[in-house]
Formats: sequence, structure tokens, C-alpha cells
Amino acid sequence: MKELPRQRTETLFTDRKGAYTRQQALVEAHRCLFCEDAPCTRACPTHIDIAGFIRKIATGNLRGSAGTIFESNILGRSCARTCPVEVLCVGDCVYNELGVPPIQIGKLQRHATDAAIEAEWSYFEAGAPTGRSVGLVGGGPASLACAHELRRLGHAATIYERHERLGGLNTHGVAPYKLKADIAVEEVDWVLSIGEIDVRTGVEVGKDLGWEELESAHDAVFLGVGLGADHRLSTPGEDLEGIVGAVDWIERMKTGQVDVSEVRSAAVIGGGNTAIDGVRELLGLGIERVTLIYRGDDSGRSGYDHEWDRAKREGASALWRAVPVEYEGTGRVERIRCARLDGDKRPTGEEITVDADFVLLAVGQAKLGDAIAAALSGVESEGGRLVVDESGALGRPGWFAGGDASNGAKEVVNAVAEGKRAARAIHEHLGGA
Ligand SMILES: Cc1cc2nc3c(=O)[nH]c(=O)nc-3n(C[C@H](O)[C@H](O)[C@H](O)COP(=O)(O)OP(=O)(O)OC[C@H]3O[C@@H](n4cnc5c(N)ncnc54)[C@H](O)[C@@H]3O)c2cc1C
Ligand code: SF4
Repeated sequence: MKELPRQRTETLFTDRKGAYTRQQALVEAHRCLFCEDAPCTRACPTHIDIAGFIRKIATGNLRGSAGTIFESNILGRSCARTCPVEVLCVGDCVYNELGVPPIQIGKLQRHATDAAIEAEWSYFEAGAPTGRSVGLVGGGPASLACAHELRRLGHAATIYERHERLGGLNTHGVAPYKLKADIAVEEVDWVLSIGEIDVRTGVEVGKDLGWEELESAHDAVFLGVGLGADHRLSTPGEDLEGIVGAVDWIERMKTGQVDVSEVRSAAVIGGGNTAIDGVRELLGLGIERVTLIYRGDDSGRSGYDHEWDRAKREGASALWRAVPVEYEGTGRVERIRCARLDGDKRPTGEEITVDADFVLLAVGQAKLGDAIAAALSGVESEGGRLVVDESGALGRPGWFAGGDASNGAKEVVNAVAEGKRAARAIHEHLGGA
């Protein structure tokens, strides 16, 4: 895997939720009520035994605590930082109903998993070789979780990744105040340390290697391809300098350097979590005026409330019910002419102009399922998503999928859960018990 450069713009950000000291972790762990049939565990897509790992922190057994986490979620270190815990485990902590601050499960999970990976504690061994091999397309959380589980079950695993580095959006997309690329890459190395996961980076399946060639090289295939490139809206002036796709720009900021020192005011088009991340990242890089422009109301945006509340506290403003109709400027974008929309998102005839010399387009990413379904008989797609059954199987025998490519874009923790689930189904398909 290609090394990350030391000089990366993302290193300017500090962690939003910093690490606990040993004392802080002990105090927080001792607050846990260790509920039976705990709602937090039910709310976690990977069903980590949360009370179990917190009890081990409370008794000073950090190594055992991390083991409990990894048994359910091998990417527990990145999930501790990336999970929207407010709407998952922490949101379901019983303390919420008692008017008491909920247990900071993500921070405790980070405390245990950081310690384990930093100390290079080892927990898992590859299973006895079965002589079967699985090809995994994409090197993101879904494929990593799938490959690790397959190795535990004794199958050979080869990951094909079109980027030069593994980790998928953990490495290339997640906001740096949550997870930095070097921590993501360190976690990848730790996952691979189970041994004999063959990694082929710089290989785009469907282009550098044919789908059927892949099929004939392996006994089963897992598709963890995630989503494709940023959408653009073909608005007049969209090709002016300073207008870029959000995911593309975030990737450059995380793995290299971007320069926004000359930007006076920026706009982000969209209302989802990537748009809100973009707003917070631009504010964090020192741009004073950053405006979110969204075609719906505040109540209609799909980005999380807790993230937007933080963005507002950091100085973000928003223009609701507006859509760009033209980007204006000489060579470089200077302002955006927007049409105002009514409650049904129809133009009111009114216009408003927003000054912006930098624009992030966060209006969604391409879904890859249609192209894959067109290339492979038996594989189906719906709205661009790959159609899988409850085990992760596609309609073509021996083919499975998980993560954003089939769930349509959820969270890292969902991709991990689906990757592991598919590994179990692949094992069964290959004749395992
Ligand atoms: C900007 C952004 C911020 C996010 N922030 C968060 C967050 O804070 N918390 C959270 O939980 N989730 C977040 N998410 C969502 C999360 O990152 C995804 O749900 C998760 O990464 C999905 O994992 P995956 O393995 O399915 O796909 P990905 O992580 O996208 O990995 C897919 C991999 O497949 C590779 N690939 C694709 N096609 C091919 C091919 N043909 N051949 C070879 N390789 C291929 C890609 O290069 C990529 O590396 C964010 C998403 C974005 C876009
Ligand atoms: S993986 Fe995420 S949802 Fe599950 S317990 Fe950990 S922080 Fe909570």
C-alpha cells in the first residue's frame, strides 16, 4: 500500500471527541448500569456486548475489553470514532430516560481499541485452510470485515482495490475531526495482520480485470464497492474554477494538501451528512463565511440534527429552499444566483445571490449497481443499489455484496456488519458448517 504523506491538510484538525485518560475511562465505565438485554447493544448494528466490554474496562481488563469489541466488530477502532452514536448505542442508553447524561460508549470503545492496536495485542488466528478462495472487490470497511471473517474460517481472500490504499471512505472520506487517514490505515494493517489476505491495489475490477476473469479465479466473490463519483447538476457556470465535488475534495484534503487560504466565502450545495461535513471542514480551515444551500427546509435535510447543530455553533449559516441556477464569475466562481423554492420545491420566481469564491457540490454520489448488473447476468439492481437477500447473496450463484453498494449508503458500522454477515453466508455456500 502506498504510504500516506506526512503533510496532509487534515492534520490541522483536532479530534472532536478526544481520548479519555485512564482515570476518565474508569469513572465513565463505573457509571454504567450493566443492563441485562441492553438496548444499546440492540441499537448497535454489529451487536457488540457493550455492558461486557465496559465492565472489563471498569475492572482494569483493557485487553479483554478490546477482545469483546473485536469479536463482534473487527473495525471497532474506527467505528468508535465514526459511529453517529447519538442515534445508535448512546441514543438508546437507559440513562436518557432518567434525565442522566448517557454513557459515552464510543469514547470508551476508543479507549479500549486504541490501547489494543497501539500495544499490538493479537486476538485472532486464521482457520485451518479450506483450499477455497474468495475475491473481494473494494478495500473499504465492508470488504475488510468480510475478508477478516473469511480468514478466520480458513478461506483464502484477495482484495482488489482501485485506490492505492485500503480503508475506503475511512481513509478517504470521513471528516478528519472524527477519524484521520493515518489511524484508518493503521487499523487496516492491524486487520490484515491475521495473515494471508492478498491485497491488489491499483486494480479496478471491470476495467483492469474483467468480472468474469475475477469469477473464474475464485470460488466466490464479494462486492464491497461502495458508491461512485460525486454527482454534478449541470448548472450553467458549474465548470468555473473553485467548484468541486465534495467527496473528491475531502479525499484530497485527507490524503494530501488543499489550499483554501485565499477563499473569503464558501458555499456547500446539499443537505446530507457529506454537505454538513463539508461546511464544518471549511469552517475548520478558517473560512469565515460558509453557507449551506439546500432545496428543502431545515426539517427536510437528511443530515443529522446533532451534526448541523454543531455546524451552526461553529458559525455556519444556511439558505433553505434555494437551488443554484447559475454560477457567475470570470474564470473563477464569485457568486451563485439561486432560485427560491416553495414548500413543494417549485420555483417561486424570486431569486437571491450568494457571494462564494469556493463551492462544494454535495448532491450525492453515483450508485454503481446498475453498471455491475448490466455486466453480469443474475445480478440485479434497484435504484442503483445491488439487490441482495437477507444473507447478502446476489442473484448470481457464489456472488455476495454488502456495505454502501447494497444498502444505498449507511454508516461504517453497517458496512462492517454486512461484510461479516456475507462472510458467514459465503462459508455456508462453500460447504462450511
Ligand atoms: C464524505 C463522507 C463522510 C462520511 N462520514 C461518515 C461518518 O462520519 N460516520 C460513518 O459511520 N459513516 C460515514 N460515511 C459513510 C461511510 O464512509 C460508508 O458507509 C462506508 O465507508 C461504506 O463502506 P463500504 O466498504 O461499503 O464502501 P467504501 O468505504 O466506499 O469502500 C469501497 C471501496 O471500493 C473501491 N472500489 C469501488 N469500485 C471498485 C472496483 N470496480 N474495483 C476495485 N475497487 C473498487 C473504492 O475505491 C473504495 O475504496 C461517510 C461517507 C462520506 C461520503
Ligand atoms: S460500533 Fe458504533 S454503534 Fe456499535 S457500540 Fe460501538 S460506537 Fe456504538
